[in-house]
Amino acid sequence: MKRASGVKSKSSKTSEHDQEAANRDEIIFLGTGGARYVIAKQLRATGGMLFRIGGKNVLVDPGPESLYRLLTYLPKFNPEKIDAILLTHKHIDHSADINVYLDVITRGGFKKHGILLAPADAFGEEGVIFKYLLDFVERKVVIKADMDFELNGVSFHFPIRHQHRVETYGFKLLHNDYTVSYISDTKYFADLGSAYAADIIIMNLIKLEPSEIDHLSVDDCAQIISSIRPRVAIITHFGMTMIRAGPWNVARQLKDRTGITVLAAEDGRHYPVDKLLSYGVKSSQFTTSS
Ligand SMILES: [Zn+2]
Repeated sequence: MKRASGVKSKSSKTSEHDQEAANRDEIIFLGTGGARYVIAKQLRATGGMLFRIGGKNVLVDPGPESLYRLLTYLPKFNPEKIDAILLTHKHIDHSADINVYLDVITRGGFKKHGILLAPADAFGEEGVIFKYLLDFVERKVVIKADMDFELNGVSFHFPIRHQHRVETYGFKLLHNDYTVSYISDTKYFADLGSAYAADIIIMNLIKLEPSEIDHLSVDDCAQIISSIRPRVAIITHFGMTMIRAGPWNVARQLKDRTGITVLAAEDGRHYPVDKLLSYGVKSSQFTTSS
């Protein structure tokens, strides 16, 4: 399952190169932990995700220890190859290493590089991004609801603002003929299902039960999976109640309830997109009864 990382294509033909790159599309979890206690004890890593899609490298939500995890899990990967960094919101478990990365990928400002995407409140005085580092990046993009962003054949759509304590967005990624949605932190609301319909969905499931902290519960995730009916769903961002219950147990329960394959993300694991797409049947082939 694990693939070689940082391998350069030797192909001289662009189309072959693109094809090879597409064949290597993968999502790597640099962390699957969330919430205070899990971060404090690093019971699970909290480094976010690296999307390696269409030859591009997009880092999403680099929480505490993200750079360390990246260097550990992908020892041959040069972080300077990160093309874009995307913050879904400014909470510390999603953003702690952002400034470290901005310095690393721009060689301390000596090489203008990279695209930074984040909601408006991640910038400025109450934000989490050092102002001086913004001069080092090639482009700064402020995420808004219903926005599209294109990165050389990899499209990102930010369908909807989440119900969370700070400004938060998930995204739907489109490349070639497949879609991947990431539903970041949010309280459940009915529009989530239609906003994030995709072949592969990744959901933050921090606590078993609903709570006052504006996060999805197991029941909420079951509802979203049932309405979207993706080929596969991946749960991640586990807090203590999830870790005690065993994320793989919860994933199995969700599968039993929805009939859709549900995986519990593992730290450092590479998930090749072609493998993920091979689960189940395409959502469009389903007619939902609800
Ligand atoms: Zn949050």
